[in-house]
Amino acid sequence: MLDAVESVRAAKPDAVRIDERYTHISGRHPCFSGEANVNRGRVHLPVSPACNIQCRFCRRAFAPVSAPDGGEQRPGVSAGLLRPREAADLVGRALELCPEITVAGIAGPGDTLATGHALETFGIIHREYPDLINCLSTNGLLLERYVDDMFRVGVRTVTVTVNAVDPLILERICSRVILDGVKYERAEGAAILIDAQKRGIRKAAALGILVKINIVFIPLINGDHIGGIARAAAECGAGIINIIPLIPQHEFARFPEPDCFELAQAREEAEHYLPVFRHCRADAVGVPGREDISSLFYGQREFEQTFSHG
Ligand code: SF4
Repeated sequence: MLDAVESVRAAKPDAVRIDERYTHISGRHPCFSGEANVNRGRVHLPVSPACNIQCRFCRRAFAPVSAPDGGEQRPGVSAGLLRPREAADLVGRALELCPEITVAGIAGPGDTLATGHALETFGIIHREYPDLINCLSTNGLLLERYVDDMFRVGVRTVTVTVNAVDPLILERICSRVILDGVKYERAEGAAILIDAQKRGIRKAAALGILVKINIVFIPLINGDHIGGIARAAAECGAGIINIIPLIPQHEFARFPEPDCFELAQAREEAEHYLPVFRHCRADAVGVPGREDISSLFYGQREFEQTFSHG
């Protein structure tokens, strides 16, 4: 895999192109391809209420798994939680209004694999709309465990948020990890998460799933680590990277946001190893750049700007 990484480095700037093994997927996915970003649509479904780790920039603690109807939904920007059947019905209505939709995505608002809601939703959607690409975003803790199930219900693209590949850096970003009912903190928890992410990404890539890496860019913590994350991600088989500037919240409320120059530098650093793309909202509906029709489904509400896994 290292040779592949070196050849991508040598090929820059052509490295902004997604590996051709995945173009049949990326060409139909607006969040993975510049071309598809202007003529293909997606519907993002907020169905996952709970999380199994705690990122210090995320104000959500651990939401009740059962709440189907809203209340506080962090960190994804989403207007209300849907039940799996409701989400599948929404896909049907969205397709009637916007036939360009090619992707059904689940990005939160919690972690999509911490509860069974996302896989159940994709099971229904895959039966009823088999031509759609199903797309899932996760922190990666349970990716290896569930990736076969994901593939079975039509998931062909996955986004994994990887904020560091060094436990001593990640422990400053992620304060705890809950795995099989056991809480792990500090570097121990961070190391468990990093190992799980790498195994999950490798297995997803081996199945032919196109993997996008999200990095929350926090200049004071992982600012000098972006290239290291991108390199590790490429070595594991990821296909594209999306760098998301920190939205200062929760424990990081006083941290500075990256400026445009820092962000451009970080993207350039990552581009040595993988193509770089931008992220979407957790409940977006429609073709990027055109009118977002999510308000027809989720209503018009005011939302605090916050991190989205998408
Ligand atoms: S940002 Fe995502 S992965 Fe991190 S604690 Fe919040 S919901 Fe969980």
